[in-house]
Amino acid sequence: MLRVNADMSVLSVNDTIVDTVVFDFDGTLARLNIDFNHMRRAITELVSGYGVAHQDLHHKYVLEMIDEAAAILQSDSPRKVETFKEEAGRIIENIEVEAAGRGELFEGTKKLLTTLKEHSIRAGIITRNCARAVHLIFPDILSYCSAVVCRDHVRHVKPHPEQLNLALSRLDASAGRSLMIGDHPLDIETGHNAGTLSAGVLTGRFRKEDFLAAGADMVFREATDIIHLLR
Ligand SMILES: [Mg+2]
Repeated sequence: MLRVNADMSVLSVNDTIVDTVVFDFDGTLARLNIDFNHMRRAITELVSGYGVAHQDLHHKYVLEMIDEAAAILQSDSPRKVETFKEEAGRIIENIEVEAAGRGELFEGTKKLLTTLKEHSIRAGIITRNCARAVHLIFPDILSYCSAVVCRDHVRHVKPHPEQLNLALSRLDASAGRSLMIGDHPLDIETGHNAGTLSAGVLTGRFRKEDFLAAGADMVFREATDIIHLLR
């Protein structure tokens, strides 16, 4: 049960008072339509070109595959690591920016962020996407949300807590009074890693059961559902 007290400008999530909400971007506030299979193929090809057998890469997520390949190269051929990382970064950024050109912000996103601001609830955005893609799809993002932490701004992307910790510190927020919301169980893991509450949204490809299994405190149909709960 989530109630919002507009006068006090807080949200009550399972009896915990929350004054800060940090959102994931793709699938939560916007749709980028990134072709991850294409991205994976492109990176696999690059990795092979560097002499690393793609069978040696076990991670299912592309960013982690790149880190894994870089670690293998580091022991085999340290000189090549920086070039490899640059090339890999360029490939995924180009794919993301191309997808962002065809993507769109969810209809209620600006209203959601404006409403939270009106109620003095702090809001941040953290994403594994690059800043170029995020700004292409949401050019005036900083007018709506002051704490936007993209992949390029940190060393470790989520589910590592660095991005969420950085957003919380920019918002002068405490983890114990914050809620992380995203469309992927990885967002729930991120919340756990940083010590926030967490909620899933069903606007991606995961179901309510997936979020509950990941330990989410709540599951919303979509991120804007918070607005409907404002009183
Ligand atoms: Mg997402």
